[in-house]
Amino acid sequence: MQHGLLKIKNDDVSETVNEFLRELLASKKISALLVPQMVPSKKTVFPVLISDPKKLSADVFAPVLPVSTATMVSKITKHQAPSTPIAVVLHPCQIRALIELTKLNQARLENIILIGVDCLGTYPVTTYAVLAEKKNPTKQILETLTKKTSDTESKLRTACKVCTEPIPGYADMSIGLYGMHLEKEILIQAHTDAGKKLISEVTLEDAQDKIKHRDQVVKKICEEREKAVQSFIHEKAGSKGIEALTKFFDTCSNCHNCMKACPICYCKECLFDSSIFDAEGNKFIRKAEQKGLFKMPSDVLLFHVGRMNHMILSCVKCGLCEQACPSLIPLMDIFIPAAVNAQKEFTYHPGKDKDEKIPMIVYREDEYTDVGEA
Ligand code: SF4
Ligand code: SF4
Ligand code: SF4
Repeated sequence: MQHGLLKIKNDDVSETVNEFLRELLASKKISALLVPQMVPSKKTVFPVLISDPKKLSADVFAPVLPVSTATMVSKITKHQAPSTPIAVVLHPCQIRALIELTKLNQARLENIILIGVDCLGTYPVTTYAVLAEKKNPTKQILETLTKKTSDTESKLRTACKVCTEPIPGYADMSIGLYGMHLEKEILIQAHTDAGKKLISEVTLEDAQDKIKHRDQVVKKICEEREKAVQSFIHEKAGSKGIEALTKFFDTCSNCHNCMKACPICYCKECLFDSSIFDAEGNKFIRKAEQKGLFKMPSDVLLFHVGRMNHMILSCVKCGLCEQACPSLIPLMDIFIPAAVNAQKEFTYHPGKDKDEKIPMIVYREDEYTDVGEA
């Protein structure tokens, strides 16, 4: 691993990173950068593919995730890898989602250089837009590290409050905030040959004596988050069984926004959007007659259980499904416990290792012999 400190200029972390990114772009080692950049209304950021360094005014630590960046990389690479290298700046959960998409043949990593950023958490898109009217939300959230303020925590999305992996696990290069003196410096680390090549001409100061402190800070944060997620799972344990699930989803309009926002739900035509569940009118009337009433739309629970069944082992707990729900259904209450338990059962860690196969797409003759499949 190669690492070094990037000195903060004019007390402006975001602009210092932008200068660094412009330098990478100007070096011609990459032909474009996919980065989060503010939209003209200043109400949010979106991933923008930039080839001209002069057009870059990114906000890589913006605490908002309106769309899945992993899905955007899938759009760029799914049919053909780019012919020249592109660097992509991603939150840790989006790197994990992208790794899962590559395993599902929905994205490629050839000529894609992953730049991961330490994530301080993200707000719901609506909260971000309101906060942005008063003060730059990135500055506010960075102050949680510099001034140790904690008033942002309660506003974060649920997924972020219990995120156990706020540090990029797999990346070619990463930009580190935790354990750093943000008034002075941030950490740049190259983890692969592609990452090392990318930063080879950038001037960085020696980071050796800061790494140990950062590792301790990161370890403590991850331990605290692990406790937080376990108590979250314990607290939400009641939503099990058909009756509890029916009640949980009783405000669901079956709009499928959760599925469209999910980086892992990639099927071009979802079974639940097809005509397979269509039925003639008399069937609905018969159902009404059986019970005296029949709530519509009819296949809500089937959709959620089916979706969960399809993708829960790859769920990266990013919470984009919950954010997209117009009925404000707290989907993380169901998806985080289900994902943690299912992934533990299969000892599978989505997005950690690009060579680890997703258990459900691997056939092993010797598995589950204890339940009689042999
Ligand atoms: S889930 Fe984790 S990595 Fe993703 S935005 Fe939230 S805190 Fe960041
Ligand atoms: S189900 Fe929700 S939390 Fe899981 S990967 Fe999809 S959007 Fe993220
Ligand atoms: S986004 Fe919300 S309302 Fe729409 S299908 Fe998903 S859970 Fe139901």
